Parts: sequence; structure tokens; C-alpha cells
Amino acid sequence: MNSSWKLLVVRGIDIRIHLTFPLILVFAAMSYGQVGGVSGAVFGIVSVLLLFVLVTLHELGHSFAALHYGIPVRQIVLLPIGGLAQLERMPEKPQQELVVAAAGPAVNVVLAVVMGLIAWLLNIPFQAGLQTYSLTFTTLFSFLLIYNVILAVFNLLPAFPMDGGRMLRALLAMWLRYEQATAVAVNIGRVVAVFMGFWAILNGALFMSLIALFIFVAGSQELAAIRWQSRLRRSGYGHAVREVFSPVVGALGPYDSLRQALAERMRGWQSDFPVADNGRYIGFVTEDGLLRAANLYGPDALIYAAMSPDVRPVSPHTDLLDVMGQMARLRVWALPVVEYGRLLGMITYRQIQEFIRSTPGWSQDDTPRIVGA
Ligand SMILES: [Zn+2]
Repeated sequence: MNSSWKLLVVRGIDIRIHLTFPLILVFAAMSYGQVGGVSGAVFGIVSVLLLFVLVTLHELGHSFAALHYGIPVRQIVLLPIGGLAQLERMPEKPQQELVVAAAGPAVNVVLAVVMGLIAWLLNIPFQAGLQTYSLTFTTLFSFLLIYNVILAVFNLLPAFPMDGGRMLRALLAMWLRYEQATAVAVNIGRVVAVFMGFWAILNGALFMSLIALFIFVAGSQELAAIRWQSRLRRSGYGHAVREVFSPVVGALGPYDSLRQALAERMRGWQSDFPVADNGRYIGFVTEDGLLRAANLYGPDALIYAAMSPDVRPVSPHTDLLDVMGQMARLRVWALPVVEYGRLLGMITYRQIQEFIRSTPGWSQDDTPRIVGA
């Protein structure tokens, strides 16, 4: 991922900040600067950086819980709107999902309680601390305390896909089918999102209205994805790659340049390319990877610069469900098909979708627009 910078590594987990992250610092500097001048702007930046330390600890809470259950964590990405711990897969057992979802807010609850006790024991004038934007211990301590409370309360809202909504889904999934549990949690989340949205609009809270919109859209997408997957499973879907993939596919050679790849891309229907040498599979180039590499290294770089290190080829015998799982995980729309090191062709998400639509008993609205958001 080149859209983010690696900051540090904790227990094998890359902690990265997204390229857009500095926007929130600029925003903080500007809004606090309006009230407090230069020192206000500095305070804005420092307090937002501290807030994101808390967000990182929150995401590490989720991550450590996932690692505890043997679920690898790919990375934690810090975005202007918050953090995101990317797990290799979702916990399968509801109890595990409950613990993983609760572990994030739990970090903030514990920190809030400990800081509250310290404030009480040391007589730190907490409320006065929130009135000024100065870089004093009292002010920063008070803001940290209130940030922890906000992070805990906000994430515990029963609004799927927020942590509270995931906890609710996990609890429901102990009695209901996974799909039903998700539907209930998503619908409750939609109601919360609508109330939140109204409140935000009435109070002119732009950030809050964006989050309400996010909850509404992301919840609906995840529900569609889960419905789609469970329908695939329920219909006893035992189809393999060999029934779907296209054996005739444009491949790139190892000595091709990015310029040649871009020309291929412009020419035809294909946007992702396997790289092969005399039929021997070497790697895979996605459209995103190609454009990104061309931006970074210029069009004359060799195709190696654009190959996706994460893509593992599938075999003709791989189950379509596994293929879709891998596509969703890697956020790619095509995968190379390889057997005994030979490139056989490529399978695309669209092909799978069309294949499934052509089987009896499938209607148009069974198909989600986005899978694996
Ligand atoms: Zn969380």
C-alpha cells in the first residue's frame, strides 16, 4: 500500500498513517488557531496528535484480541476520520467477535477510569482544563481524559459497523443465524444513524453527519455482502475456478515496461494482467498497482515495479467462494489462474458474478454492488 506511510511496527503489526492524515492536523490548526492564535494552532496540532495516540491504542486493543485468537492483523491505518485495524479474516465464533469488538473501546474505558482516578486523587482541575487551549499539563490531561470518554461512548453506540454494533451482532449471533443477526444489527444501526444525522444537521455538525452517513452506507454494504455469501453457501455452491475462468488472456512479459502495460490497458477490455515468461507464471499486475507504479517510477520502469506482492494465484480447482474471499481481502477484481507454475488464465469478479447469475434461482437483487467493504 503506497497510499500510507509506515510509522512503526508493534508485535509485527505495521502502524501506518494515510496520506490524507495531515489534513486533520491542518484542520485542527486552523480551527483552534481562530480562537487562540498561534498558540491555539499549536495546541490544536498537539491535541489531535494525542487523540490519535489514543485511537492507535484503541486499534491495538482490537488487534491484540484478534492475535489472541490466532487471527493475523495486516496493519493499522490512521485516517483523518479515525483508525482501522485490518484483520486477515473476521472471527468466526460470535464470542470471539464480541471480544475483538469490545477490546478497542475497553482500552479507552480503562484509560478514562484510570485518568479520572488520577484527576480526583491529585485534584487536577479537570473542568477548568477544558476551558483553555494552552499547552499546560492540566489542559492536555483534561483533553486526553475527555477524548477517552468520547472514544469509548461513541464506539459503543449500537450502530453497526461501529464496535458497539459489532458487539450487538455477535450477541445476536449466539441465538440467530449470522445473516439474521447482521440484518437486525444493521437495521438498528440505520435508525441510530438517521437520528445522528438529523441531530448533526440541526446542529451544523458536519463531521457527525459524515459519520452518520458512513454508518448507514457501510452497514448496508456489509449486510449485502453477507447475504450474498450466505446465499452462495446455502445453495451448496461447490463450483471451482475451472468452470468460470478465461484461458485466453493478455499476459505481460518480464521485460515489458510500464509504458507497454499502460498501452495494453488502453487498448482493450483487460485492466489487470498476469506476468509470465514463456508461460511460466511470474506475478500479477492490477490496474491500481500499474497506475501507482507509473506515477512513482515513471513509464519506463520494468513491470516488476507494478507487481502486487500480496496476490497469490488460484488453481483451476480452487473453490469460487475462496476466490471471492481472496478478492475481497485484497480488494482486487481479478486473480491469475496457475497450475504447476504455468499460467492458465485469469478469473475476474465479473465472470463469477455472471456465472452465478446464469445459474437458476438467482435474481438481480441478490447481487450486492460492493463486496467485502
Ligand atoms: Zn474500534
